[in-house]
Amino acid sequence: MNHGLGNVLTYEECLKEYNKQIRSNNYLFLIKKCCGYGFLFPFNKEATLQELYRFIGYEIKPSKPIHLYLSHQLMHLNQEIPHLDTSIETYLKDPIRNRNIKPLYKLPDPVVYEIYLDDGHHSDCRAIFG
Ligand SMILES: [Zn+2]
Repeated sequence: MNHGLGNVLTYEECLKEYNKQIRSNNYLFLIKKCCGYGFLFPFNKEATLQELYRFIGYEIKPSKPIHLYLSHQLMHLNQEIPHLDTSIETYLKDPIRNRNIKPLYKLPDPVVYEIYLDDGHHSDCRAIFG
């Protein structure tokens, strides 16, 4: 793409660049609730687990403290993602954890990981997941 002076980028061009940039610096998560609600959430690889909680909070404006899990099973085991100052990249690259998280979509779709969200209403869960 030509970024020379006088070249006005269209919104579509900006969006395409932005999409590429997001994928190189961020993990893409699908933040999912047991009721089926979900939204795509890019998160910088260098940002911390604490910040993950904070930024998802900004998005959903929860009325109760939220809990995040790498799977629905871990949600039911009450093993939430810890509120640590560790980067999400370090956390996900742990070999045991790495074996357990699987991208949601097949290539050439981007790598998207699921994160389960409990916004304080998980006791109502009737979801059946594998
Ligand atoms: Zn559930």
